[in-house]
Amino acid sequence: SKLRVGLLFGGRSGEHEVSIISARAIAQALSLEENANKYAVLPFYIQKDGVWQAGEVAQQVLTSGVPQEPLSTTPNLWQFPPETEEVDLWFPVLHGPNGEDGTIQGLLTLMQVPFVGSGVLGSATGMDKIAMKMAFAQAGLSQVKYKAVTRAEVWSNPCVFPKLCDDIEATLGYPCFVKPANLGSSVGIAKVRSRQELETALDNAATYDRRIIVEAGVVAREVECAVLGNDHPKASVIGEITFNSDFYDYETKYTPGKADLFIPANLPDVVAQQIQEMALQAFAAVDAAGLSRVDFFYVEATGEIFINEINTLPGFTSTSMYPQLWANSGITFVQLVDQLIQLAIERHSPVS
Ligand code: ATP
Ligand code: MG
Ligand code: MG
Ligand code: MG
Repeated sequence: SKLRVGLLFGGRSGEHEVSIISARAIAQALSLEENANKYAVLPFYIQKDGVWQAGEVAQQVLTSGVPQEPLSTTPNLWQFPPETEEVDLWFPVLHGPNGEDGTIQGLLTLMQVPFVGSGVLGSATGMDKIAMKMAFAQAGLSQVKYKAVTRAEVWSNPCVFPKLCDDIEATLGYPCFVKPANLGSSVGIAKVRSRQELETALDNAATYDRRIIVEAGVVAREVECAVLGNDHPKASVIGEITFNSDFYDYETKYTPGKADLFIPANLPDVVAQQIQEMALQAFAAVDAAGLSRVDFFYVEATGEIFINEINTLPGFTSTSMYPQLWANSGITFVQLVDQLIQLAIERHSPVS
C-alpha cells in the first residue's frame, strides 16, 4: 500500500504564500512517475492564524495557490484534523518562523512519525542567524564581521543605544546590514549607510525579533549550493544570482524577472569545490538533515569566500534555486522529493 505523506504548508510566517507554491510543486512531483505508485498525498494547510485544515479546504488552497482567510475569531490551536492520524510521514514545506525554526519539528518529533528535513536542533540553529554564525565560527568557516544585538539594547535603555551605534560604526562601518535574527526572504533586512539609517533600521528590526544581527557589508557575487543527505550528505553544483537592485531584497526575490539564476555558476573549479566543501561543513555545523541551501559571498578580486547563511527549508517551487541546483546535478524534481522522503525514513529508523 502507498505511504501516506502529510504535506504541511502555509504557516504563521511572512513566507506563507511562497510555502503554498512550494507545496503545490511537491504535491505534483509526488503524483508523477514512480512516485504515484509509492505515495499518496494528504494536504495539511496551516492558516495564517495557526489553525490546521485538512481535506477539501487544504486541497483547495493547494490547487488554487491562494491562501484561505481564517474563519474563526478564537482559533483552537490544539484541535488537529482527524486526518492527522492517517499520516505515515510528514513533509513540512514551511518557510521562516513557526516552520523552519524547530517548532513544527518538535511537534512532529512528539508525534513519533518520520518527517522530511532537519530536526529541532538543526532547524533552530539554522534559523537564528546569531546561533548559526556561532556554529559556523566554531567550525572555522569564514564569514563577514558581525555584531549580535538584542531588542532590549535597542529599545529599553536610552544610555546603551548611542554606545551600541558607536560600537557598530567603529567595528563594522558602513554600509552594514541590519537583520532580524529569525526571518527569511529578506524580510526586515536593511542596508544602511549612515547613523540615522542605522538607528531607524535597528528600531525596525526590533519590531520583528528580540534578536538582531548587524553585519559588515561586502561587495561580492552571490552564490548558493544545495545539500542533500543525512550523515553523508552530497553538495550540488553551484548557482549564482544576479540582479540590478541594491541587494537581494524581498521585491527582487519575488518579482518575476528581477533576478536571474545561473546554473552552474561561472567559477574556477577550485572555487566551486571550496564552496561545496564549506556547504557540507555548514550543514554539519548546525546539525542539519535531509536538505539545505547554503548561501555564500564570493569576492572575485581577492578570491575570498564568505558563508552568508544556511536555509534548512529553502524555497521549493519549480523555479526555486534548490531543486534547480539538483536538476543540474542530475537529480530531477521527481527524484528529489522521493530521495527526501527516503532520507526521512532512514533518519527516523532506530539504530540497529
Ligand atoms: P533567504 O530568503 O535566502 O533566507 P534571508 O532573509 O535569510 O534570505 P540573507 O540571505 O541574510 O537574508 O540576506 C539577504 C540578502 O541581503 C543577501 O542575499 C544579500 O543580497 C544581502 N546581504 C545580506 N548580508 C549581506 C552582507 N553582509 N553584505 C552584503 N550583502 C548582504
Ligand atoms: Mg535565510
Ligand atoms: Mg529562508
Ligand atoms: Mg539568503
